[in-house]
Amino acid sequence: MSASKPAEQMQFRAEVSRLLDIVVHSLYSDKEVFLRELISNASDACDKLRYAAVTQPELTGDNPDFKITIDIDQKARTITVNDNGIGMTRDELVENLGTIARSGTSAFLEQIKDAKKADINQIGQFGVGFYAAFMVSQAVEVKSRKAGSEEAWSWESDGRGEFTVEETDKSTRGTEITIYLKQGEDEFLNPERLRTIIGKYSDHIAIPVILNGEEKPANRAGALWLRPKNEITADQYKEFYHHVAHAYDDAALTLHWRAEGVIEYTGLLFVPSVKPFDLFDPKRQHGVKLFVKRVFITDHADGLVPPWLRFLRGVVDSEDLPLNVSREMLQNNPTIAKMRQGLTKRVLSDLAKFANDDAAGYAKFWDNFGAVLKEGLYEDADHRKDLSKLVRCRSTATLGKGNDELVSLADYVGRMKEGQESIFFICGESIEKLQRNPHLEGFKAKGVEVLLLTETVDDFWPASLESFDGKSFKSVTRAGEDLGKIDAAPDHAEALAKAGEGTADLVALLKLTLGDEVKDVRTTDRLTSSPVCLTADEGDLDIHLERFLKQHNQIRTASKRILELNPTHALIIQMAARAKQSGAADSLKDIAWLLFDQARLLDGDTLSDPVAFSERLGNVLVGAVLAKAV
Ligand code: ADP
Ligand code: MG
Repeated sequence: MSASKPAEQMQFRAEVSRLLDIVVHSLYSDKEVFLRELISNASDACDKLRYAAVTQPELTGDNPDFKITIDIDQKARTITVNDNGIGMTRDELVENLGTIARSGTSAFLEQIKDAKKADINQIGQFGVGFYAAFMVSQAVEVKSRKAGSEEAWSWESDGRGEFTVEETDKSTRGTEITIYLKQGEDEFLNPERLRTIIGKYSDHIAIPVILNGEEKPANRAGALWLRPKNEITADQYKEFYHHVAHAYDDAALTLHWRAEGVIEYTGLLFVPSVKPFDLFDPKRQHGVKLFVKRVFITDHADGLVPPWLRFLRGVVDSEDLPLNVSREMLQNNPTIAKMRQGLTKRVLSDLAKFANDDAAGYAKFWDNFGAVLKEGLYEDADHRKDLSKLVRCRSTATLGKGNDELVSLADYVGRMKEGQESIFFICGESIEKLQRNPHLEGFKAKGVEVLLLTETVDDFWPASLESFDGKSFKSVTRAGEDLGKIDAAPDHAEALAKAGEGTADLVALLKLTLGDEVKDVRTTDRLTSSPVCLTADEGDLDIHLERFLKQHNQIRTASKRILELNPTHALIIQMAARAKQSGAADSLKDIAWLLFDQARLLDGDTLSDPVAFSERLGNVLVGAVLAKAV
């Protein structure tokens, strides 16, 4: 059958055009990576078909042995990469290679925008690896026949804005990609050069790569994870990581082990050294591929990795699951659950070792993935205890000390003061804002350490963890009574005692004025330079958490707060004195409301009634000016 309809010409999507423009004109020196990307795609295509054939064996039919062949034609100056994988339909060719909005395209463009010598090496990470072929080609032709289909289609482009698709002939299933080398790229016509590239990047590909019809594959074509550790070089681990993770950094940790006993499996897992760009995607999907006896099953085995370890990349190869396991069967599967338990334990213990042996390296890891691990503190009771030892926080005790800025909960407990019963923390938007939060003043004055927490998840885990080493967690915004039990600096204590005496009338007046707006009014020793602050009552929601829940429409009403006064502050002393004079109540009312509003503002809250606020401010200012004038 020959092509029945004329070739159809189509435009690349705009971002793809821009991307191709960069790739085509790149002066990038490691152009050889194009072959890695094509082999990687061919290998993915074989894995996909192998899985599909588990339920539809007719798809592989009489051609069940997967392989990738690479052929060089010196005369035509072409390289052809052929696979007998899943293949693509006409629509898939159009979508996958030219028009669909692949999430990584813009991310990749963003990343290489400024770099003078764009790091095209990373192209595969963004899911646009195919286009690397245009670094070395003046034209690329893709012929594909989907497994199970009779039709074949060809796609062709010179990488300059347009591509064509037309029906074609192809006797076997799979995809055949021919690249027409640019002038000056003749080195890639040398089989030895290609052999070296395959050895360097694709040795770990589990499917044989056959070069120029040779009998022996140019790669080892065995599952790397099944080789003994001492026979695997650091470079081989690295290339394998790059392949499974579509990543191009050096992994922060490599874990390779074999579990034997009740269940048998091999794990080869990597902790990346940079954040994957979709780390906080709501799907919370992990990056560990499931194999059964060396056969790829799926990228998405739910339950194989807890969501709070979703940054992990790599493979788990089970000896116990049946080969024809379907994705549905994997849900709530007891073997999967056991492997999850095993790998979780393994990862946690290796992370503990990492933290112990390399504090600086661990701090970087924590910066990348701490927020994800902390999700486990509140949602995974079984691992809470082990996880709590891995937690690192910024703290008032070490702020600004470079590498040593992060403290562990054990560090904190070791530094607790005489009389201190709880681990104090405060949640807020940023370290800068937290540092100026009035709630910290009294703690600073007494040298009591406070953990500074700035991530969303921080609003939740201290409550779920409840305690560490027998010490409960307490937000400073509600730790009303605690400071008094801890030794006060002598002069502050003295000032407090003296000042506290005169405030009874002021407190009564404020309660009367503010009425239902506050839960209580009282003096506090937590403030040293601010006049007032708002605190949460013992049983109430933390202020920061409550604001978060309100923003996300989880709750409607706000709980009432306690207004606390600093009895050593000049303003409070003055007001207390006035409050004792008869008839002063009226003139103090405006100031009472202003104090309350000020406390809300200091907490990062908004004013409930800005008009009333500005009227009162006006009254007070006029009063002050008149008083001066008299
Ligand atoms: P990625 O491999 O990260 O998805 P690529 O740009 O390398 O991104 O490939 C784009 C898509 O084109 C692949 O996801 C796949 O759907 C399709 N594709 C590329 N090469 C092949 C192939 N040899 N066989 C089948 N599909 C392929
Ligand atoms: Mg790819």
